[in-house]
Amino acid sequence: MNDYSVETSIEYKNFSIDFFAKDDLKKKLIYNVTPKVIKKYKCLYCNSEHVTINKFYYINLKNGINDDGYLEIFRVKIVDFKCISKDCKRTFIFDIPFRYKNYRITVGAAKKILNLYKNIQNFAKIEKIVGINEKIVKEICEEK
Ligand SMILES: [Zn+2]
Repeated sequence: MNDYSVETSIEYKNFSIDFFAKDDLKKKLIYNVTPKVIKKYKCLYCNSEHVTINKFYYINLKNGINDDGYLEIFRVKIVDFKCISKDCKRTFIFDIPFRYKNYRITVGAAKKILNLYKNIQNFAKIEKIVGINEKIVKEICEEK
Protein backbone atom coordinates (compact mmCIF):
# COMPACT_ATOMS: atom_id res chain seq x y z
CA MET A 1 0.00 0.00 0.00
CA ASN A 2 1.33 3.42 -0.81
CA ASP A 3 0.80 6.66 1.05
CA TYR A 4 -2.61 7.26 -0.44
CA SER A 5 -5.48 6.27 1.74
CA VAL A 6 -7.82 3.62 0.51
CA GLU A 7 -10.49 2.38 2.81
CA THR A 8 -9.58 -0.87 4.48
CA SER A 9 -12.72 -2.36 5.86
CA ILE A 10 -14.35 -5.73 6.23
CA GLU A 11 -15.81 -5.33 2.74
CA TYR A 12 -12.31 -5.73 1.30
CA LYS A 13 -11.12 -8.67 3.36
CA ASN A 14 -11.13 -11.17 0.48
CA PHE A 15 -9.39 -8.79 -1.88
CA SER A 16 -5.96 -7.31 -2.16
CA ILE A 17 -5.57 -3.71 -3.23
CA ASP A 18 -2.34 -2.48 -4.71
CA PHE A 19 -1.22 0.67 -6.36
CA PHE A 20 -1.45 0.58 -10.10
CA ALA A 21 -1.18 3.98 -11.75
CA LYS A 22 -1.22 7.66 -10.97
CA ASP A 23 -2.25 10.06 -13.68
CA ASP A 24 -1.30 13.59 -12.64
CA LEU A 25 -2.71 15.16 -15.76
CA LYS A 26 -6.18 13.72 -15.29
CA LYS A 27 -5.86 13.67 -11.50
CA LYS A 28 -6.67 9.98 -11.30
CA LEU A 29 -5.41 7.16 -9.14
CA ILE A 30 -6.09 3.69 -10.37
CA TYR A 31 -5.83 0.78 -7.97
CA ASN A 32 -5.75 -2.87 -8.87
CA VAL A 33 -8.20 -4.88 -6.81
CA THR A 34 -7.73 -8.62 -7.03
CA PRO A 35 -9.65 -11.36 -5.25
CA LYS A 36 -7.44 -13.46 -3.03
CA VAL A 37 -7.10 -17.04 -4.16
CA ILE A 38 -9.88 -19.24 -2.95
CA LYS A 39 -8.90 -22.88 -3.38
CA LYS A 40 -12.31 -24.41 -3.18
CA TYR A 41 -15.16 -22.54 -4.66
CA LYS A 42 -18.65 -23.96 -4.80
CA CYS A 43 -21.32 -23.30 -7.37
CA LEU A 44 -23.75 -20.65 -6.14
CA TYR A 45 -26.68 -22.54 -7.63
CA CYS A 46 -26.14 -26.25 -7.02
CA ASN A 47 -23.33 -26.20 -4.45
CA SER A 48 -21.19 -28.45 -6.61
CA GLU A 49 -17.44 -28.25 -6.16
CA HIS A 50 -16.90 -28.96 -9.85
CA VAL A 51 -16.34 -25.44 -11.00
CA THR A 52 -13.81 -24.03 -13.42
CA ILE A 53 -12.72 -20.53 -14.23
CA ASN A 54 -14.55 -19.45 -17.33
CA LYS A 55 -12.87 -16.09 -17.89
CA PHE A 56 -11.49 -12.96 -16.25
CA TYR A 57 -12.54 -9.42 -16.89
CA TYR A 58 -12.21 -6.03 -15.23
CA ILE A 59 -14.66 -3.42 -14.13
CA ASN A 60 -13.84 0.08 -12.93
CA LEU A 61 -15.54 1.33 -9.79
CA LYS A 62 -15.18 4.97 -8.79
CA ASN A 63 -14.30 5.52 -5.15
CA GLY A 64 -14.65 9.30 -5.20
CA ILE A 65 -12.11 12.13 -5.03
CA ASN A 66 -9.61 11.82 -2.18
CA ASP A 67 -8.14 14.57 0.02
CA ASP A 68 -5.36 15.20 -2.50
CA GLY A 69 -7.88 15.87 -5.25
CA TYR A 70 -7.38 12.61 -7.10
CA LEU A 71 -10.30 10.55 -8.35
CA GLU A 72 -9.76 7.03 -7.06
CA ILE A 73 -10.73 4.25 -9.43
CA PHE A 74 -10.71 0.62 -8.40
CA ARG A 75 -9.94 -1.66 -11.28
CA VAL A 76 -11.55 -4.85 -10.03
CA LYS A 77 -10.60 -8.21 -11.44
CA ILE A 78 -13.73 -10.29 -11.87
CA VAL A 79 -13.49 -14.05 -11.92
CA ASP A 80 -16.24 -15.64 -13.91
CA PHE A 81 -16.78 -19.26 -12.88
CA LYS A 82 -18.54 -22.02 -14.70
CA CYS A 83 -20.13 -24.96 -12.99
CA ILE A 84 -19.28 -28.17 -14.81
CA SER A 85 -21.85 -30.27 -13.05
CA LYS A 86 -24.01 -31.96 -15.72
CA ASP A 87 -27.37 -30.57 -14.72
CA CYS A 88 -26.21 -27.08 -13.95
CA LYS A 89 -23.54 -25.60 -16.25
CA ARG A 90 -24.28 -22.12 -14.99
CA THR A 91 -21.80 -19.29 -14.68
CA PHE A 92 -21.41 -16.97 -11.74
CA ILE A 93 -19.02 -14.40 -10.34
CA PHE A 94 -17.59 -13.52 -6.96
CA ASP A 95 -19.70 -11.24 -4.89
CA ILE A 96 -18.13 -7.77 -4.78
CA PRO A 97 -19.22 -6.52 -1.35
CA PHE A 98 -17.70 -3.07 -1.86
CA ARG A 99 -19.64 -2.40 -5.05
CA TYR A 100 -22.69 -0.20 -4.55
CA LYS A 101 -25.63 -2.08 -6.07
CA ASN A 102 -25.25 -2.21 -9.85
CA TYR A 103 -23.55 1.16 -10.06
CA ARG A 104 -19.96 1.55 -11.19
CA ILE A 105 -19.09 3.06 -7.82
CA THR A 106 -17.95 1.72 -4.44
CA VAL A 107 -20.01 1.52 -1.27
CA GLY A 108 -17.58 4.10 0.16
CA ALA A 109 -18.39 6.52 -2.64
CA ALA A 110 -22.13 6.06 -2.09
CA LYS A 111 -21.65 6.78 1.62
CA LYS A 112 -19.74 9.97 0.81
CA ILE A 113 -22.55 11.07 -1.53
CA LEU A 114 -25.28 10.38 1.03
CA ASN A 115 -23.33 12.17 3.77
CA LEU A 116 -22.82 15.23 1.57
CA TYR A 117 -26.49 15.23 0.64
CA LYS A 118 -27.42 15.87 4.27
CA ASN A 119 -25.92 19.36 3.96
CA ILE A 120 -25.81 20.03 0.24
CA GLN A 121 -29.00 19.40 -1.69
CA ASN A 122 -27.32 20.28 -4.96
CA PHE A 123 -26.36 17.34 -7.16
CA ALA A 124 -23.98 19.35 -9.38
CA LYS A 125 -22.04 20.50 -6.30
CA ILE A 126 -21.82 16.95 -5.01
CA GLU A 127 -20.56 15.81 -8.42
CA LYS A 128 -17.72 18.37 -8.16
CA ILE A 129 -16.74 17.14 -4.70
CA VAL A 130 -16.84 13.38 -5.29
CA GLY A 131 -16.20 13.20 -9.04
CA ILE A 132 -19.24 11.06 -9.72
CA ASN A 133 -21.73 11.94 -12.40
CA GLU A 134 -24.57 14.20 -11.26
CA LYS A 135 -27.18 11.85 -12.71
CA ILE A 136 -25.90 8.95 -10.59
CA VAL A 137 -25.64 11.20 -7.53
CA LYS A 138 -29.28 12.18 -8.01
CA GLU A 139 -30.41 8.56 -8.36
CA ILE A 140 -28.59 7.50 -5.20
CA CYS A 141 -29.90 10.41 -3.14
CA GLU A 142 -33.47 10.04 -4.31
CA GLU A 143 -33.83 6.29 -3.89
CA LYS A 144 -33.88 6.55 -0.11
ZN1 LIG B 1 -23.85 -25.66 -10.41
